[in-house]
Amino acid sequence: MAPERFFLELEPTAAMQASWPHVVVVGGGFAGVRVCQALARQPVRVTLIDKRNFNLFQPLLYQVASGLVSAADVASPLRQMVGQAPNVQVLLGEVTDLDLENRSLQFNGHHYGYDQLVLACGSGSTYFGHEEWRPLAPPMKILEHAQEIRRRLLMALEEAEQTTDPQRRQFLQSVVVVGAGPAGCELAGSLVELMHSAIRRDFKQLQVELCRVVLVDAVDRVLPTMHPNLSVAAAEYLQRNGVELLLGSMVGAIEPGKVLLKGEGEPRFLEAATICWTAGVRASRLGKLLAERSGCAVDRLGRVLVQPDFSVPGHPELRVVGDLCSYSHTSDGAPLPGMAGPAVQMGAWVAGDILRGLDGQASPPFRWLDLGSMAVIGPLFAVADLRGLRVTGLLGWLLWGLAHLAFIPATENRITLLTRWLWQIATRQRSALLITGRPEQHIGVDVGLTRAPAAAEIPGVSRLAAPAPGPGG
Ligand SMILES: Cc1cc2nc3c(=O)[nH]c(=O)nc-3n(C[C@H](O)[C@H](O)[C@H](O)COP(=O)(O)OP(=O)(O)OC[C@H]3O[C@@H](n4cnc5c(N)ncnc54)[C@H](O)[C@@H]3O)c2cc1C
Repeated sequence: MAPERFFLELEPTAAMQASWPHVVVVGGGFAGVRVCQALARQPVRVTLIDKRNFNLFQPLLYQVASGLVSAADVASPLRQMVGQAPNVQVLLGEVTDLDLENRSLQFNGHHYGYDQLVLACGSGSTYFGHEEWRPLAPPMKILEHAQEIRRRLLMALEEAEQTTDPQRRQFLQSVVVVGAGPAGCELAGSLVELMHSAIRRDFKQLQVELCRVVLVDAVDRVLPTMHPNLSVAAAEYLQRNGVELLLGSMVGAIEPGKVLLKGEGEPRFLEAATICWTAGVRASRLGKLLAERSGCAVDRLGRVLVQPDFSVPGHPELRVVGDLCSYSHTSDGAPLPGMAGPAVQMGAWVAGDILRGLDGQASPPFRWLDLGSMAVIGPLFAVADLRGLRVTGLLGWLLWGLAHLAFIPATENRITLLTRWLWQIATRQRSALLITGRPEQHIGVDVGLTRAPAAAEIPGVSRLAAPAPGPGG
């Protein structure tokens, strides 16, 4: 215990709580929120620290990017989700360092003590050593990324509506999505649908036939982690609806408005005003920091190799869960996938283990229940693999919809999402086609050439108010 470093003055039971163990959870994503929910109203003091004040439902980010839903529909304030429990304190800030010897961490310029620490900082995107591609091809990991993709595409369509140059118009109506995993397929499917419906109804000068959405990946099939039959069904649907698949093609370079592809044959350039990146995932930089501080190992994605109880060697008081950990104590030794389901289950198990440990009890080993995976490829069309039961089309979409509505944390969001989905199916209208963001760029398409100043660079804007970088930093 490090009482002098406690900063919590919890009401109304602060006196009683002062003797309770202090559990600090870093990261209010799927895993961290589950830890807090399971520890709520238990005899522990919990502090949840996150650099955002909301929990983000990442699986629906592509719907923000394609104007189907608004940012607030896929995000829930952490204070409302978990901060209302009397023993849970939510604090906004980015954890920047760890002092394992003194059991404290650093954030917002202060040191805070803990008895038990749970790191649940998730992952960010990686460009495989080509960070210069990031501004040209935004990833889709945080809300601002999705809004930026939407802004670029809508700005391109606005400019296309006004240009008299057919070549330029073709360029402005072209999109390249890099990465044919679930996020890339969902994004490509949704963007092509958005462009077709918007151009048919809202843009008088544009032609649907000139829309071009290209999905690029180095692998030879879409959805490579799913069953091959589902890949075939998804690929057929995408192609039928106007998405061009360029598989087996490696991105060699990205320049403003251009993607260089290397595959069989001659390298070729794709030209597109909107380029999006869903190809690479890398664990939060706190994984590397923890490795430096504790000597624990990380894998090639920067994920911390954890022990069966999610601790790291020599530190039973420190657990790492969710996308930030590599948990390979499985029947086949393969690490659990970086998905919401495992993250939630890890969070629940670790919280239970902490509580049982306080009572001197041992926990049963962690067992992951694989609920399967799914991807929605278009309106009323999804592919789903539910532990061997494989479905496609409308049934897949219904299962996908039910699963996502069950998973989304806030009831209000559940109702809004269902309404928006049904409205879109009935009318083909999207309610969130707003060009927001950086007004100084709202003249002409920038294709990532210019960069808005970070809030930290704007006089009078505090660090706390600055938009945070992606979870992986
Ligand atoms: C576009 C997209 C689509 C996806 N679709 C699916 C899907 O369909 N099904 C599925 O199962 N999974 C999906 N996933 C994966 C799933 O979202 C992740 O596996 C899951 O979010 C991991 O949960 P987590 O709690 O580990 O991390 P996250 O949910 O990423 O949460 C991490 C939290 O930590 C905070 N944080 C990070 N660093 C710090 C720091 N230093 N200090 C303070 N706070 C910090 C972040 O702000 C964030 O709130 C998708 C992911 C993306 C990006």
